[in-house]
Amino acid sequence: MVKFLDIKKITESFEPEISETVQRVVRSGWYLQGEENRKFESRYSEYIGVSHMVGCANGLDALTLILRAYIEMGRICPGDEVIVPANTYIATILSITENGLTPVLVEPDADTLQIDFAKLKAAVTDNTKAVMIVHLYGKCAYSDELGAYCRDNGLLLIEDNAQAHGCLYKGRRTGSLGDAAAHSFYPGKNLGALGDGGAVTTCDEELAFTVRRLANYGSDKKYIFDSIGKNSRLDEVQAAVLSLKLKRLDKDNERRRCVARKYVDGINNPLIRIPKGIKDINDSNVYHLFPIMCEQRDSLCRHLEKHGIQTIIHYPIPPHKQKCYEGKELLKISGNLEVTEAIHEKELSLPMSPVMTEEEVQRVIDALNSFSIY
Ligand SMILES: *Cc1c(COP(=O)(O)O)cnc(C)c1O
Repeated sequence: MVKFLDIKKITESFEPEISETVQRVVRSGWYLQGEENRKFESRYSEYIGVSHMVGCANGLDALTLILRAYIEMGRICPGDEVIVPANTYIATILSITENGLTPVLVEPDADTLQIDFAKLKAAVTDNTKAVMIVHLYGKCAYSDELGAYCRDNGLLLIEDNAQAHGCLYKGRRTGSLGDAAAHSFYPGKNLGALGDGGAVTTCDEELAFTVRRLANYGSDKKYIFDSIGKNSRLDEVQAAVLSLKLKRLDKDNERRRCVARKYVDGINNPLIRIPKGIKDINDSNVYHLFPIMCEQRDSLCRHLEKHGIQTIIHYPIPPHKQKCYEGKELLKISGNLEVTEAIHEKELSLPMSPVMTEEEVQRVIDALNSFSIY
């Protein structure tokens, strides 16, 4: 069987170092807020190209803490609007509503699957205070035009970099392009821990300081609480594992691009469309996922399953149609969301990982090319 993502095989590919690393931390007797976190913070911030990284418990917390810190700093107020792509993972939206802010859902472009810049501009009102871009599927959603627009209009630019560790834009890493960025180290991400983990990166010292305080019960000094904080930490075992895995991230992303290249060259079934922006293989895509579009998506999925190939839909239901937001008027929808809804009806993600063999990739291609509706 060709697995969608073989995490066991990925972990095994780091042996014996990964077991030695875990054992070293276990034996050290120090499990939180120690040397491993300091080391990873300095390595990861240098890798991303920012002056500050703050570790936290997961990607959702990283997003939530950034917005909460901006509220604490008086840069945004509950009730303000935050622009976000409508086709993102629910976490992006949850971080906004959790802070009493209003997500304004904007359509993606059908070719790039990233937020449509023209529609973004049209959605800005006097209440808009921030734009959250999502480097969805591992593809950079930033452009110089978007960055300049946010700066000129006094809008905070926040990156959701949960799916794009190592991605570049004109030589700069995603996670360093806006005012602040959230990273997730969920095991299945391009840089994954052996459990949950997350981080905030920024060049804004006050923001980094505020995030660190909020993530530590609102305290800078032991038993002195200046803010109403929470407990959100990256543990020492995860930080040590991430320092180890970071060394191979660029090489792993290059392997993902090789798989993508084979898919683009090999898939020739007219029933299957690879979005234009996904076909364009360069260093501004780290192929966290490889999405294809198919009108007969569900029967294609069954066909692949019969051929022993696992696929996943990202995502079957868009956030604005989820029950959790039904009838609550917490979301603001800009225009109609037909592009978003079409993506959710047609999208299918192919197996993708740095440990796939050539033979596995070929099996996926052959199965895709043998699909027909008759
Ligand atoms: C995974 C993910 C998150 C959340 O990360 P967790 O670590 O699972 O909380 C946020 N945004 C996007 C786009 C993601 O893919």
